[in-house]
Amino acid sequence: KSFEELGLDSRLIRALSKKGIEKPTLIQQTAIPYILQGKDVVARAKTGSGKTLAYLLPLLQKLFSVSGSKKKLAPSAFVLVPSRELCQQVYTEVASLIELCRVQLKAVQLTSSMPASEMRNALAGLPEILVTTPACIPKCFADGVLDPAAISDSLDILVLDEADLLLSYGYEDNLRSVTSIVPRRCQCLLMSATTSSDVEKLKKLILHNPVVLTL
Ligand code: AMP
Repeated sequence: KSFEELGLDSRLIRALSKKGIEKPTLIQQTAIPYILQGKDVVARAKTGSGKTLAYLLPLLQKLFSVSGSKKKLAPSAFVLVPSRELCQQVYTEVASLIELCRVQLKAVQLTSSMPASEMRNALAGLPEILVTTPACIPKCFADGVLDPAAISDSLDILVLDEADLLLSYGYEDNLRSVTSIVPRRCQCLLMSATTSSDVEKLKKLILHNPVVLTL
């Protein structure tokens, strides 16, 4: 199947084409239609499978409809990743897609090594998309940089990327500070290379009737 047949917006298809990406990978072919439909998705996906675009493309498409409208006080989408390196990588990818699509959306990355003032500045632009690590969230709450109540009001999409690693780094308590404020309406996407019992627990905790994709 082509990206068009998956229901992807023409702006995204053009952006991908500029990056030299013409044909969806297996995980993208399978996951994108479900995510566009609004389903919660669990995908067994390794690095190199194209998993990042599998969630970023439909996530962006969903936010196209709010771009240019009145800004929310907190981000609409969170992407949680286990490391600073991956945070940078995902941020770079999403920022480049936004630029290529020429849409009024803003993404920021926050890592726990950033001083509170820098985090506050990053969030002052009212980004729709926040790419961050779980350790950063409690820090943001403690520093008053992010307001849990505002997030409960604003959050529409939560991505847990490399969920197995998110849990293995002793991030569990940090993750709980996020999962405890995820509103019922929020669409949750969980990407994981392996399905451990911890990942199963996380799945039960925040996903609702997820589509499970093992590729
Ligand atoms: P990931 O699995 O998300 O870490 O992606 C691995 C690499 O594959 C990244 O460099 C992507 O830019 C690239 N990639 C993702 N999707 C595609 C695609 N459909 N065609 C060609 N390359 C892709």
